[in-house]
Amino acid sequence: MATRTPLIAGNWKLHKDCAESVAFASELKAAIPADIDVDVMVAPTFTALHPVCEVVKGSPIAVGAQDMFWEAKGAWTGEISAEMIKSCGCTHVIIGHSERRQFFGETDDTVNAKLKAALAAGLVPVVCIGETDEERQAGKTFEVLETQVKNGFQGMAASELTTVVLAYEPVWAIGTGNTATPEMVQEVHAFLRKLVADSLQKELANGMRILYGGSVKSGNIAELMALEDVDGALVGGASLETESFSGIVRYKR
Ligand code: PEP
Repeated sequence: MATRTPLIAGNWKLHKDCAESVAFASELKAAIPADIDVDVMVAPTFTALHPVCEVVKGSPIAVGAQDMFWEAKGAWTGEISAEMIKSCGCTHVIIGHSERRQFFGETDDTVNAKLKAALAAGLVPVVCIGETDEERQAGKTFEVLETQVKNGFQGMAASELTTVVLAYEPVWAIGTGNTATPEMVQEVHAFLRKLVADSLQKELANGMRILYGGSVKSGNIAELMALEDVDGALVGGASLETESFSGIVRYKR
């Protein structure tokens, strides 16, 4: 059985300007023990990536972008490439967040293009998938997730996907306070691991970290992390304050 180091990731979304991000990152650096035995990642807004990377240097905190573009360079006004993100000092990138899918036209095809570019640049991609409330009510959860995974990973071999992190984020649980029940989470995570095993490779599936996201807080993280197929969390709202995020990171202590 592969050992999967848990990953606790904080998505700051459209919060905190440069100065606020830097101040918050140094608070987190002080609050998170240097010998923490989980991987920790924060995703500030693009403009704060470089300064935050500078602040957390030498700490267990890694930095990721919240999105990226798949082209390396050219006439793409407003876009940011994987190499540019890397040059800020980042090691991770979130791809396909439901807010990107819902409000900015992200599709499984764009997720696939971004995933390929992120991997080519050596970034660790955190690929987000999840069903809407309507899809769950219609009994389509597994069908939707299967399509998102298969299309998102389209044209890639298991050997290319070894660093990929999957984040299951039911859309109805994001920012709503409605965490999925542990039973729902384990059922979906086990389904996703089996899907990766059957469609790609068992070894890849055993080693792949599958995060849960959707109203995670310090009060429910331990219960979620106790589930067999949960390997970490992608945290939105509760990642914006030192006490709550460091509490989530220190869930074992
Ligand atoms: C998210 O946006 O990825 C998320 C999980 O948000 P929240 O924790 O606020 O539900």
